[in-house]
Amino acid sequence: MSRQSNSLLAIAAVTLALIPAPALADTTPTPQAGKAATAKTAKPVDCAQVKCIALTFDDGPGKYAGKLLDTLKKYDAKVTFFLEGQYVKSRPSYVKRMAQEGHELGNHSYKHPKFTEIEPWAIRSEIQKTQDEIKKAAGVEPKILRPPYGLADLQVTEVAAEFDMPVVLWTAGSRDWDLKDVEAIKKQTLEVAAQDGIILMHDWVKQTVEAMPSIVKTLQSRGYHLVKVSDVVKKHELKPGDVFPLPQGWEN
Ligand SMILES: [Zn+2]
Repeated sequence: MSRQSNSLLAIAAVTLALIPAPALADTTPTPQAGKAATAKTAKPVDCAQVKCIALTFDDGPGKYAGKLLDTLKKYDAKVTFFLEGQYVKSRPSYVKRMAQEGHELGNHSYKHPKFTEIEPWAIRSEIQKTQDEIKKAAGVEPKILRPPYGLADLQVTEVAAEFDMPVVLWTAGSRDWDLKDVEAIKKQTLEVAAQDGIILMHDWVKQTVEAMPSIVKTLQSRGYHLVKVSDVVKKHELKPGDVFPLPQGWEN
């Protein structure tokens, strides 16, 4: 669906304004942590049937990934990590844990260059090296790509297609890299949270990881299932080279 564009349009951060979940949803009672956790892992979550949200963590594995994984395990929440190859290489044990504990792994380049400013061969190399490191660390290969800064153009989507990957961006940001404050990150994240939302976060931001127990508990108390990004975009049947969400200027 992205191929209709003739010009090489650089996409800045996606600025889709999301309406917060209706107040009514907030009345959903908090599930009993232990029992709800067992029930949720028993069957795959169907986002056509239940209220889903995908928290996504870029640029990792960051220094605080271990603590984040502990929190996610405690609340039986699944997330997606868009990993940077250079850090997969330096922190492989976190990547192994991410895969073992049921989280989704995505490719976020090797060293975070702007894909819109480098040659196709260099984009291929960034993606391939990262695939190789993740395979080595966790025994799995990502099936989704998020280019650094969410920057994509026709050339980027064509290379993504060569790797059989759709490009998955985000619908809203936690602005954690800028806020660096536990309460502010929590407030912003909960404000932009919406059904089938894809939230951009970073596990190298200490305050994000510190805010996570509270964010997860609040989202779950509002009836959200925290799921892998692939579960949230499933209904869109993304093909290799597709971009989701489609940024402004890319509409057919
Ligand atoms: Zn990034």
